Amino acid sequence: MEKKKMSPKLRLALIILGVYLLVLLAAAVLIDGRHAEITLLGESEMTVEVGETFTDPGAQAISTGRIFGSSRKPKGLSGQGQVDTGKLGEYTISYTASVLGRETTVERHVRVVDTQPPVIELNHTEGYKASWFTGYEEEGYTARDNCDGDITGRVERTELEDRIIYTVKDSSGNEARAERLIEYSISTPSISLNGDADMTMTAAMSFSEPGYRAADSLGNDLTSYVTVSGSVCPYVPGSYELTYSITNDRGDAASAKRRVNVVAAERPEVKKPERKTIYLTFDDGPGPYTEQLLDILSEYGAKATFFVTGTDTRYSDMIGRAYREGHSIGVHTYTHDYNSIYSSEQAYFDDFNAVEQLIYEQTGSYTSLFRFPGGSSNTVSRFNPGIMSRLAAAMENMGYRYFDWNVSSGDAGETTVTSQVAENIIAGCSGKTAAVVLQHDIKNYSVNAVETVLIWGTSNGYSFEALDMTSYEAHHSIAN
Ligand code: ZN
Repeated sequence: MEKKKMSPKLRLALIILGVYLLVLLAAAVLIDGRHAEITLLGESEMTVEVGETFTDPGAQAISTGRIFGSSRKPKGLSGQGQVDTGKLGEYTISYTASVLGRETTVERHVRVVDTQPPVIELNHTEGYKASWFTGYEEEGYTARDNCDGDITGRVERTELEDRIIYTVKDSSGNEARAERLIEYSISTPSISLNGDADMTMTAAMSFSEPGYRAADSLGNDLTSYVTVSGSVCPYVPGSYELTYSITNDRGDAASAKRRVNVVAAERPEVKKPERKTIYLTFDDGPGPYTEQLLDILSEYGAKATFFVTGTDTRYSDMIGRAYREGHSIGVHTYTHDYNSIYSSEQAYFDDFNAVEQLIYEQTGSYTSLFRFPGGSSNTVSRFNPGIMSRLAAAMENMGYRYFDWNVSSGDAGETTVTSQVAENIIAGCSGKTAAVVLQHDIKNYSVNAVETVLIWGTSNGYSFEALDMTSYEAHHSIAN
């Protein structure tokens, strides 16, 4: 058969057409720009709460081009990147796919955040009530945060009039706040006085506070916070004011007042004796001659007065005997130490009370009679100016009676001769209706003179009596 031969022109045309088609195809592919297109499922910017589970919503990919359009899914879509929801921060997940060797990457940002505030818990003590005085005493609190843990130490506390505000922030800035209402006793507390608010007392060596109590209206006892101002001089008559007050550190205050009226004790009136009387008085004993003296007095039925001391307690039982035999017992001094007893009122009172106690032990009763050591006119006390005036007034206001003397026996230094002592006494008593004789029963020459005096007195119409609260006092002029 005859091969039909293609004309060379046709062949050339076909080749040119073929090349043209190839160039056209290549151009089409180039212009198409085929690539992968990734679409995120869900938001590209996500937030997730710390501690919660994060699930990646994923992505979809297609192959796409300008000319040939979209087509099947590209192979190899993958997500890369981890989100640690236990830790605050910003995480990135990258999704990658490729078509014809071209890679496409899309990112998703995930922020792990903390939006939960901490929790403040307040402690409550059973039965606790804030005191008006001390204010509120913190019962305790704790603060916990889901991220930061225990943040109690970061709590800020603000005390207001009737409440406390607690605030705390976690490290993400989330704030918590708690409030505690305080049941204060806002009203001022009351101070109640034991005894009368207007009281009257007889002058005494000491004032004993009848007591007081302070409480707020919730019943908190505030007594120990009360301060007392003002004072009472219990042996000087007058009107004194005591103020009991309590102030808290918020500046609130309450107070109560007490008036103490110190009045002089009533004393029986002094009566001059109707008949001639000698009051023999013996100071500074009892001593070794007191027993002999009591025997003589007993023999003559004479009464005397003993202003006793505690200087030699070996003879203290003579106080009891003298008392039982009808003699009077008065206080002189326990120590006879001028520098000590006249150093202050209190020192004098202390010394005085020591003798009173001794007398009470020996006789079963106290005495209201006394004689100042050195007499009321002494000048040995001048180291403490005015002490004798003050003591004399104080003791009288308290109901005591002090005695000086108007007959001196001279047994304190002038003489040590018995007959001279007797002469001095007799001379001093002569012509007096009431003679108060000063002797010392610790001196034997003085005790020995007593019988002569008793004989003289009895035969000259005198009676020998013991001093009492109505007796003539033979006061000297006070010189200090
Ligand atoms: Zn004396």
